[in-house]
Amino acid sequence: MKCSFCNKKAIYNDGENRYCKEHFIEYFEKRILDIIEIFNLIEPGEKIAVAVSGGKDSVSLLYLLDKYKEDLKIDVVGIHIDEGIKNYRDKLKNYLLDLAKKHNWEIKVYKFRDYFRLTLDDSVKIERRLKPCTICGVWRRWLMWKAAKDLGVDKIATAHNLNDEVQTIFINLFEGNIKDFVKGGPIVGIVEHDFVPRIKPFYLVTEKETTIYALINKIDPPWVECPYIYGQTRDEIRKWLYKLEEDFPGFHKKVINKYLRILNKLKISYKKTNRINLKPCKYCGYPTSREMCRACEIKLILLGHK
Ligand SMILES: [Zn+2]
Ligand SMILES: [Zn+2]
Repeated sequence: MKCSFCNKKAIYNDGENRYCKEHFIEYFEKRILDIIEIFNLIEPGEKIAVAVSGGKDSVSLLYLLDKYKEDLKIDVVGIHIDEGIKNYRDKLKNYLLDLAKKHNWEIKVYKFRDYFRLTLDDSVKIERRLKPCTICGVWRRWLMWKAAKDLGVDKIATAHNLNDEVQTIFINLFEGNIKDFVKGGPIVGIVEHDFVPRIKPFYLVTEKETTIYALINKIDPPWVECPYIYGQTRDEIRKWLYKLEEDFPGFHKKVINKYLRILNKLKISYKKTNRINLKPCKYCGYPTSREMCRACEIKLILLGHK
């Protein structure tokens, strides 16, 4: 099959057009720049941090934003959180740092051990009642906030794509987690006290499209899986959604369009009925509704003292 725009071999078909490598890159990058513009994700002059795990999606996002930083008139820095997971994070980190050298990317590494005195591997051995993903999620959010403050960034860009977001929508629905359900969208945290807003430039592109973009650009991280990821709801939901997409092509896009249509109204009415007053954590300054934030609380449980 030939590309719809030239004589070269097509590698992707979006249902309307077929794309060769070059035309796919053009198509993909234009979509991302459109998403940034439509949702007003980035303003000229801003410093944008990319949360870069070393996986193909986040590296692709860093690659793309770095490529267009002059056009967008922004500064770009990568923040890499190292939880301390042997044979997983170290491999991705090394891959990322090598690639960064080649492309001249600025990457800042923030380690759990430097801030919580424990790696994630240490933590799970101490307290088995706390799930690894709970510790990791809370501390990662805290450290990303800390890093963003340190580096004076205006926004944090994450590589969540259409499939990730639809999975999250269903997980929150099934768990009855209305608070997180209304927290979605391509830009979050813009008004909350002292939080750095998060933007998702890949919001409307599919996992398949981000994978192709990574492959064409030779972004090919080592194939490793987090050892703590088992029996997670997300995995089951992903499989279920994958089947639905096969049976009803365009299912994910339909869900996201409906979600976006109701999201603003939901956010407004949720805020009216649930006034959450955030104030700085007494011990670390992180915005929280309690005296001690969850990150400090977990540290206290694990280390036994402040
Ligand atoms: Zn072409
Ligand atoms: Zn705290």
